[in-house]
Amino acid sequence: MPALTAIRGFKDILPKEADLWREVEEKARQVLSRFDFSELRPPIMERTELFQRTIGAATDIVEKEMYTMEDRGGDLITLRPEATAGMVRALIEHNLHEGGRATKLFCLGPMFRYERPQKGRLRQFHQLDVEIFSDAGPHSDAEIIVLLRSFLAELGLPNLSIVLNSLGCPTCRPLYRDNLVAFLANRKNKLCPDCQRRLELNPLRVLDCKSETCQAEVKAAPSFSQFWCPACREHFEAVLQALTGLGLDHQLDERLVRGLDYYTRTTFEVRSGDLGSQSALAGGGRYDGLCRELGGPDLPAIGFAAGLERIIILLNQLKGDPAPGPDYYAALLTPEALSPAFALVQALRSQGLRVAVDWEAGGLKSRLKRADKAGAAKVIMIGPDELASGLVKVRDLRTKEQVSLPLNKPEEF
Ligand code: AMP
Repeated sequence: MPALTAIRGFKDILPKEADLWREVEEKARQVLSRFDFSELRPPIMERTELFQRTIGAATDIVEKEMYTMEDRGGDLITLRPEATAGMVRALIEHNLHEGGRATKLFCLGPMFRYERPQKGRLRQFHQLDVEIFSDAGPHSDAEIIVLLRSFLAELGLPNLSIVLNSLGCPTCRPLYRDNLVAFLANRKNKLCPDCQRRLELNPLRVLDCKSETCQAEVKAAPSFSQFWCPACREHFEAVLQALTGLGLDHQLDERLVRGLDYYTRTTFEVRSGDLGSQSALAGGGRYDGLCRELGGPDLPAIGFAAGLERIIILLNQLKGDPAPGPDYYAALLTPEALSPAFALVQALRSQGLRVAVDWEAGGLKSRLKRADKAGAAKVIMIGPDELASGLVKVRDLRTKEQVSLPLNKPEEF
């Protein structure tokens, strides 16, 4: 019988990769704590209705990409394709917005979309999701962009660009939408089949269609900035000014729209020049109407999601170095070494040192090979001579320097 493999688009994170994952997650937590965010861990499954109501029925995610199933009680449930919907649901359900201040929340974890897998695109992938509720002002837009940029820059990622647009509000967006539809209707035959459908259901999405013919057609499309109402213009200009004030490079891209229906005003993306076709590392924006639409209070909100797989791909390209191995490998050269070595190894570990060991004695050559394979910095050799003298040999595998240390004094290691 052939051995089973993982589901297509679902990937194992192997032990040799896990250190880097932890580094990225720890950096995220560190930066978020500096910006005064708290963690919320919603479940990875929600009622299907939640995603239909928030993401919007006429989006790729809801139309084609959700993992939806009927549970044994006959309810329709879905593996979350993104985190915002669950975060907002939890916020309302637990009244997390009460307290008179902005509520700043994040979550880290897997998302699920039935997309065509390729480099940087999986069916189970991981996101850092960050949200600010109850702050309508432009400084929270700028702050969340600064936070995202700090997280990526502190991981050491170069070659990043921040791209922004404003999608207007319920006052000015319909005007733009009508103009865009009128413009696109004249070119309908030249659009790809998906965009011909989008024209009816979600015309803004035509602007960021990847097909070359669609891209050529939308080049001359009316730009959103002509339609912003004074309040939207003022808000967006204040966001740009706050970023400029901090010396943060950014570009306006009037073709930047987001896949989800609930965005209003500021939208943004951070892209990397080193990622190929899937260049977006993170994307987000303001969604002032969503809480109310879900039956909650009328809270303004802004958030983003960053894709961890893409960040890891970049860090791997950058570092290439294998993760550091243990501090020590304990080489047992005689069966009598087992019990004194057992005590020494545990004592070293309680001192915070990372120690690898095989609980069987072997020849020096074979143990040195194993120490090398484990990537250990130093090897502790414990054979008959060492047991007789009470002094073990410790060799630095890089410099080849060797010292003798007392077997029963772990604190000297
Ligand atoms: P979105 O939730 O679609 O706005 O995506 C936000 C970020 O999540 C993107 O910029 C990507 O970095 C990442 N992302 C989205 N979809 C996938 C996927 N299928 N596989 C890997 N990363 C993804």
